[in-house]
Amino acid sequence: MVSDEVSSVDFGTKTVTTKSKKSYPYTKLVLASGIPRHLPLPGFQDLSNIFLLRFVTDSRAIMAAVGEKNKKVVIVGSSFIGMEVGTALSRGNDVTIIDPLKAPLERVLGEEVVQDVATVDKATPSPSDPSKVGAVHLKDGTVLPADLVVLGVGVRPATDFLKDNPAISLETDGSLKTDESFALSRLGGDVFAIGDIATYPYHGPGSDHQKGTYVRIEHWDVAQNAGRRVAHTIVRSLAPSQPPKPKSFIPIFLSALGVQLRYCGNTAGGWDSLLLKGEPVNVKFAAYYCKGQTVVAVATVSMDPIMAKSAVLMHRGDMPSKKEIEDGVDVLAVLAVGWSKNK
Ligand SMILES: Cc1cc2nc3c(=O)[nH]c(=O)nc-3n(C[C@H](O)[C@H](O)[C@H](O)COP(=O)(O)OP(=O)(O)OC[C@H]3O[C@@H](n4cnc5c(N)ncnc54)[C@H](O)[C@@H]3O)c2cc1C
Repeated sequence: MVSDEVSSVDFGTKTVTTKSKKSYPYTKLVLASGIPRHLPLPGFQDLSNIFLLRFVTDSRAIMAAVGEKNKKVVIVGSSFIGMEVGTALSRGNDVTIIDPLKAPLERVLGEEVVQDVATVDKATPSPSDPSKVGAVHLKDGTVLPADLVVLGVGVRPATDFLKDNPAISLETDGSLKTDESFALSRLGGDVFAIGDIATYPYHGPGSDHQKGTYVRIEHWDVAQNAGRRVAHTIVRSLAPSQPPKPKSFIPIFLSALGVQLRYCGNTAGGWDSLLLKGEPVNVKFAAYYCKGQTVVAVATVSMDPIMAKSAVLMHRGDMPSKKEIEDGVDVLAVLAVGWSKNK
């Protein structure tokens, strides 16, 4: 283990150079970095009590700023990090969550599953201590007093050290486009990108089955699966008679939002209808996201086995259709092997 920061990569000589000017030759290189972005707006870079959440140290700093509670907390971003922090701090504090979307988690779950917010203009200092944040201003003129601000605005791939590298071109979001094996194909199969920085072809339900639909997914399970796949590819490449065969996986994530949300699949290829089963009013449901008759993603609350089983069925191409689920087919009763043949 080397405690240093990579500053550049020479893909020609196969050498990684770090900030402390050390060089490391490689045979195979796995790139795996991911860093949250700051809001490039006035006040957000220079005032204190404005936090990102990435490391345990960030979490401790937020808790120290909350202190004895009764704080005005403003959270920017209503996706997973913003909603999880909002849920955790809502007891005993006054929490406001800001996002231009119509509903929290809307991009992932859709409006029907989640049940208001505006865009941010700037942060201004506290009158009592000008070094600290005192308010967040929205573009519509609203001023939200704030003792502390948490930025849950997503991660920006930490690929600045590759920005001007002539051997590769970054995607517009700063990520690296890979093939099915998470390899950067222009670099001869020796360089891989995984996790939050990787845009890779997804072949699950609803995707372009031929070429794959390119996705970048910021979740643990995807980073871990990609890492396993790269390790497998590298090991198999040592036995040239058995060329590496990439194995696909269905993305999964879990989130603690007061209730436990489970999700599998992906909607990058789009979805046009939502089938809700269970008891949504009692916060116990399975939501099936469908594109035509294909179930492309499943979200559950208090029905975890349905998500787990759906992930297996999707992986094998055995997930029941929308109509079959509407007609009462129980996902838990479906045999994963042979189901599609009997349909
Ligand atoms: C607060 C929070 C909560 C989350 N909760 C969930 C959750 O509940 N479920 C879920 O599925 N996902 C969750 N995620 C997302 C998940 O953490 C990421 O998708 C996952 O960690 C991505 O793994 P990674 O290896 O790509 O990047 P990271 O885990 O970010 O690791 C990147 C590493 O690379 C290092 N690095 C960066 N640049 C350089 C450089 N130039 N040189 C050397 N090292 C460098 C960084 O210091 C870091 O150690 C959460 C993320 C956050 C921030």
